[in-house]
Amino acid sequence: MRLMSGGQIDTVMQEDRLFPPSAEFSGASVIGSMAVYEALYAEAKANPEKFWGDLAREELHWFKPFTKTLSWKSPNAEWFADGTTNVSYNCLDAHLSTHRRNKAAILWEGEPGDTRTLTYQQLHHEVCKFANVLKSLGLEKGDVATIYMPMVPELAIAMLACARIGVVHSVVFGGFSAEAIADRNNDARAKLVITADGGWRRGKLLTLKATVDEALAKSPTVKHCVVYERAGNKPAMTAGRDLWWHEQMAQVNANCPAPELESETSLFILYTSGSTGKPKGIRHTAAGYNLYVKKTFQWVFDYRDNDIYWCTADCGWITGHSYIVYGPLSAGATSLMYEGAPNWPAEDRFWEIIEKYRVNILYTAPTAIRAFIKWGDHHVDKHDLSSLRLLGSVGEGINPEAWMWYYNKIGGGRCPIVDTWWQTETGGIMMSPLPGAIATKPGSCTKPLPGIIPTILDENCQPVPQGQGGMLCMSHPWPGMLRGIWGDDERYRLQYWSRVPGQYLTGDNARQDKDGYYWIMGRIDDVINVSGHRLSTIEVESALVSHPLVAEAAAVGRPDDLKGQAVAVFVTLKGGEATEALRAELKAHVRKEIGALAVPDEIRFTNTLPKTRSGKIMRRLLRDIAAGKETLQDTSTLEDYTVLAKIRSDEE
Ligand code: ATP
Ligand code: MG
Repeated sequence: MRLMSGGQIDTVMQEDRLFPPSAEFSGASVIGSMAVYEALYAEAKANPEKFWGDLAREELHWFKPFTKTLSWKSPNAEWFADGTTNVSYNCLDAHLSTHRRNKAAILWEGEPGDTRTLTYQQLHHEVCKFANVLKSLGLEKGDVATIYMPMVPELAIAMLACARIGVVHSVVFGGFSAEAIADRNNDARAKLVITADGGWRRGKLLTLKATVDEALAKSPTVKHCVVYERAGNKPAMTAGRDLWWHEQMAQVNANCPAPELESETSLFILYTSGSTGKPKGIRHTAAGYNLYVKKTFQWVFDYRDNDIYWCTADCGWITGHSYIVYGPLSAGATSLMYEGAPNWPAEDRFWEIIEKYRVNILYTAPTAIRAFIKWGDHHVDKHDLSSLRLLGSVGEGINPEAWMWYYNKIGGGRCPIVDTWWQTETGGIMMSPLPGAIATKPGSCTKPLPGIIPTILDENCQPVPQGQGGMLCMSHPWPGMLRGIWGDDERYRLQYWSRVPGQYLTGDNARQDKDGYYWIMGRIDDVINVSGHRLSTIEVESALVSHPLVAEAAAVGRPDDLKGQAVAVFVTLKGGEATEALRAELKAHVRKEIGALAVPDEIRFTNTLPKTRSGKIMRRLLRDIAAGKETLQDTSTLEDYTVLAKIRSDEE
């Protein structure tokens, strides 16, 4: 390993295990071989506009066909701009004249065990009615509605009803504080809040309406609040402002033909999870996003008409938007939605749900997988998981050892894993194995999807030599890309389009291995610079997680007079004692796994790591702790506010 002049990221991790899909799996896939993938990729790369234009004509319903596929004046893209379509039509109406009319669109299970099924026909009925409710409250195309709900079908109904009439939804995760809701209401100038009286989480009733009341005291633009009755806990209702969902629904009919909406109609705003700073309202628009999530859902999940598909994310995150609601429904899939926690009433709840519904495709996050490993195999062993055909991961890099556990223990060694790399900003999955075609490697998101053209650049914006890490960028616009940051064009330009002229800066580092596989190396801001060597957080963390006693690890750089930065790691254990001997053993383990350079200078044992509400490790906060500094950063998206104090006191 040596320092390269362009400041690339050094790689220290070696991972050579390769898992090709079975002949049976490939045989039933639409993209069933590397040759098919490569041909499709080459076709798209040769002429991305033709590729996307043809797909858009095939996959979406057009009231008025578009004549121009892309207008691109960097950094502003318009896709299919002179055509008109309707996302809600594509997700619902389009299926009503097919054999899918009576198919389950949403299978739902509440945390207490209550269940509901909505067919495409039934979902259409509810969505039309709620769209009429929105209209009766005076909402019009371009107005913003905040949705702050538990994971109940009405959350999806509210999203689709907004989409139907061009109201822009802004879903705020149902665990956020009043302050966070008010900030988002004000930033988006929301006119309406849609909420519920409560929702269940780990056996506790979350009183959402009470939190909304507090937020509304500081949200002058909001005129009304519609409240869905989930818990029967009789919240305070402010006359003139607050309205019951069921009472409003009783006053409207289900006649709401989908209006023609221009392709670039704003579909939603979603504030990113805030792993790295102040939340920003990412804006997506109708047609391009719709096409992108439909196609990527079909490609990556290899969806077959009888499959039961379960994405365990919350609709408060982009994953829920794209791969619980818009992607699966526009593809006519059956999407399972679960309200509660994975460890309620017991730590086998996910496996129980998979057995009960005979789930075929499971899409979850590394934070959950690491928790399952910690909770123990006996929870898994109690259940029949033989219905599973395909597994997915999203949100963070997955440590190779966690990948192996997922593959063997949950997938029974027979299910491909799609490690999907993407962002709120990208709208949908950008890099992932196509499971019937691309052999997987634990920890690699493998290859870009057709139409996606990544580049890896050094600090001078020059392509790095193959094998070296650098900034991951996208050199060509794609239909699912964000169209801006709500109300802040300058921040949009600065954040994504100024560092590398003409290219989209993802903010992550990546490298490509000798087989052309991509490996995400963590965030650009998280790189640890030890004596001029630039190390990736995920590689140090994965080396630690491969030790049998380590459950989770987070690596950060700590200022060091001699080396510039020293490697500080925060480690949670599965078992064993936090001793000096274990510290020495972990250092030796890292030295053996990835070499002397990456050996942590400091190992801190802790019971918890700071995470976003979506379960991502917030390394920026750990940097302050490692440096012994007070945190003056934005912590509004932190899952547990007490965690920073706890970690500091773990040290004493
Ligand atoms: P913010 O941008 O506000 O700091 P965030 O980046 O965590 O928040 P998201 O858009 O939800 O918000 O997450 C996208 C990021 O998550 C990616 O840029 C990447 O760092 C990480 N990520 C997602 N999926 C993967 C994956 N499969 N492998 C590695 N990293 C991933
Ligand atoms: Mg981000």
